[in-house]
Amino acid sequence: MAGNTERLGAGVYPGAEGPVRIADAYFPVETLGPGRRLALWFQGCALACPGCMSRHTWDADGGRAATVGDLLQLWDAALADGAEGLTVSGGEPLQQPSALAALLLGAGRLRLARGRPEADLLVYTGHEPGEVPPEVWAALDGADAVVTGRFRIAEPTDLVWRGSANQRLVPRTPLGARRYAPHLDRDYPRGPRVTVHTDGTHARVYGVPARGELRRLERASAATGVHLTDPSWRP
Ligand code: SF4
Repeated sequence: MAGNTERLGAGVYPGAEGPVRIADAYFPVETLGPGRRLALWFQGCALACPGCMSRHTWDADGGRAATVGDLLQLWDAALADGAEGLTVSGGEPLQQPSALAALLLGAGRLRLARGRPEADLLVYTGHEPGEVPPEVWAALDGADAVVTGRFRIAEPTDLVWRGSANQRLVPRTPLGARRYAPHLDRDYPRGPRVTVHTDGTHARVYGVPARGELRRLERASAATGVHLTDPSWRP
């Protein structure tokens, strides 16, 4: 990704030059919030939930380096391609609070500049309110909705976009309330909760799997002769 934010308009996106480490970016993802979305996975998570499907995101020095402006360019391109929202997950986005705050501020301004005010911003954090300093939690101020709380493998749930029953989906803005009200108590329909994307060498699994879904995925894949090596959900 280039570090060039000129096309977005100099000075309009404070912090766009700031660094951020990410694990992945993909558009369109339809399993992490309503509609076709740009999904960004921040790198680094110290919470180490047992059963985490994304252990490759734990190392704060892993992933790849980018700037907030790079991510805003992805958002700009996704908006032009009809994106209905942005989902920031991880890893733990609050481990990079300055980058997260700048990204959400810029993404909010960009959707207005592009005439797409209903494109919402959703953030996943493993933290609960009050668990981190207020100045860190304030990085979420630009989010229209958040999913909060650790992943707890012993507390499965059928609620959409949540991995365990303790996790809460919380709208934070009028837009978030409009977009998420129909989904707060909605269960997943029957069927897969994740999608798999492959480039022929690597497979990426996007979404919030049901218990056992990743194991079934591995078995189904093996049955077709494709054996997953070193899946990110294995310790
Ligand atoms: S489930 Fe989320 S919060 Fe928990 S260890 Fe994995 S990335 Fe971190």
